[in-house]
Amino acid sequence: MPNDTPKKSVIVVGGGWAGLTCATELARQGYEITLLESARQLGGRARRVAFDKQPVDNGQHILIGAYRETFSILKKLNISTTETLDRRPLDLLFQYCGGKKFNLQLPALLTPLNLFIGLLKAKGFSAKDKWRALIFGSKLFSNSVFYENDISVSELLKKEKQTENNIKALWEPICLASLNTPIDEASARVFVRVLHDTFCRSHKDADIIIPKVDLGSILPDPASEFIEKHSGIIHLSKRVTEININQRHVTGVRCDKDVYKAGHVVLALPPHACLPLIKDHPALHDIAYNLNSFSYNPIVTAYVKYPASVRPNLPIQALLGTTSQWIVSRDVAGQAGLIAVVISGPGPHMQLDNEQLASTIQSELANCFPHWPQADDIKIIREKRATYSCRVGIDLLRPNNKTRINGLWLAGDYTKSFYPATIESAVLSGKHTAELINQH
Ligand SMILES: Cc1cc2nc3c(=O)[nH]c(=O)nc-3n(C[C@H](O)[C@H](O)[C@H](O)COP(=O)(O)OP(=O)(O)OC[C@H]3O[C@@H](n4cnc5c(N)ncnc54)[C@H](O)[C@@H]3O)c2cc1C
Repeated sequence: MPNDTPKKSVIVVGGGWAGLTCATELARQGYEITLLESARQLGGRARRVAFDKQPVDNGQHILIGAYRETFSILKKLNISTTETLDRRPLDLLFQYCGGKKFNLQLPALLTPLNLFIGLLKAKGFSAKDKWRALIFGSKLFSNSVFYENDISVSELLKKEKQTENNIKALWEPICLASLNTPIDEASARVFVRVLHDTFCRSHKDADIIIPKVDLGSILPDPASEFIEKHSGIIHLSKRVTEININQRHVTGVRCDKDVYKAGHVVLALPPHACLPLIKDHPALHDIAYNLNSFSYNPIVTAYVKYPASVRPNLPIQALLGTTSQWIVSRDVAGQAGLIAVVISGPGPHMQLDNEQLASTIQSELANCFPHWPQADDIKIIREKRATYSCRVGIDLLRPNNKTRINGLWLAGDYTKSFYPATIESAVLSGKHTAELINQH
C-alpha cells in the first residue's frame, strides 16, 4: 500500500442500508469512517419521504421474520424492534375483487408442522391444490427441489405440478413481492431459497413485519448518529466520480475536485451506479462486464388517503386480477385511513401517467371495497429501478464483496448472497464486507 494512505481509514460510498451497515460495523471496530452519499439524505432505496406533512417511505416495505441480519444490526444499535416494527404470524388473504378469496394462516407450531397444518386448513383452495402444495412444501423442507440449471419460476411450478389456483393465488404474488420479477422470468433457484428460508427453518421466519415508523427512523437515523459518535464523518450531496488506484491498491476517491484518501473503499452502490466507477480499470473488467448485464424492475407505491374510519381487517392483503397487487394499512404506523397500494414488477401500468394510474387504483379499490368512502388524496411514487431483475441465471452475475484491487470492496443488495434484492441482502452484504475488511 502506498505510504501516505491511512491504513485504518475506510471510505464508504453510498448511504443505503448496505453502506450504513458496513460503516456502523467498522466504526464499532475503531475504523475512521468517511461516508459519501450523493443524495441529500441517507437511506437510498429504503428512505423516508413526506406525504402531506406525514412521514412515509419511498415505497412500502415489508420485512419477514427470516431477516436475521437486519434484526441483528438493529439490536446492536439499540433500536427496539417492538417499538419500530409490527410483527405478526403469517396470515395472508388473496382476493379477486368481489370474487374468490384464498387465505393462508400459519399456526405457531414447530416447522414443518406449521406449514403442513396451515396448508391443510387454508381457505379457498381445493383438496388437489392443497395436496400439490403439501408435496412441494415437503420437498422444500427436505431440500430436494433442485434443478442443475437455473429455470424460471413458472417452469419450476409446472415441473412441481402446481395447480392454477396455487400459482395464481399463492406462488405468483409471493414471487412478485419477494423477487420483484414476473414468474416467467424469475430465477427458480433464488425463489426456492426464499421459500426455504421463510417456511422451512423456524415458524417465526414466516412472520410478516410492517414498519411502525418511517424507514429513516429505523436504520439511517440511528446509524448516522452512531457513526458520528464514533468519530466518523458523513457527507451528503457528495457524488463520487472516480476511484483512485495506485498499482492495484486503492488510495481513495474523488468527488469532482475533492480528493478523499483511505486504505479501503467500499462501493455500496446499486450496479448501475457502480459500473461507471469501475469500468475503466482492467482488473475490474470481469465485474464490470457482469454488472452491465443487470436489468432493473420498477415498484410503484400509491399512498391513498381515506378518512380515519377506513380500517381494513388485516394490515396486509393481496388483490388478484387487478393492477393493484398488495394493500397495506398504515394504521400500524399510527396513520389511520392511509392505505399503501404496491405494484411490483414491470407491466402496462408503467405506460400510464400519474393521473391515469391514480384513477385506475382508486376505481379498483372502490370496486373491491365498496363500503369505503371516497379517497381524499393520493400520492404516487415510482421507483423505476427499484431492484435488479432477479431473473434466471442471476446468481452467475452477482459479484463477491472482495475485488482484485487491494482495499476495494463491493457491497449492496446485488452482491453474492442467498437473497434477492431486499433489505436483508443489503444488510448482509454490508456486514460481510465489514468482516472481510477487519480480517484483511
Ligand atoms: C419501492 C421499493 C420497495 C421495496 N420493497 C421492499 C420490501 O418490501 N422488502 C425488502 O426487503 N426490500 C424492498 N425493497 C428493496 C430494498 O429497498 C433494497 O434492496 C435496499 O434498500 C438496497 O440497499 P443498498 O444499500 O444495497 O442500495 P441503495 O439503497 O441503492 O443505496 C445506494 C446509495 O448510494 C448512493 N449513490 C449512488 N451513486 C453514488 C455515487 N456515485 N456517490 C455517492 N453515493 C452514491 C445512492 O443515493 C444510495 O443512497 C424495495 C425497494 C424499493 C425501491
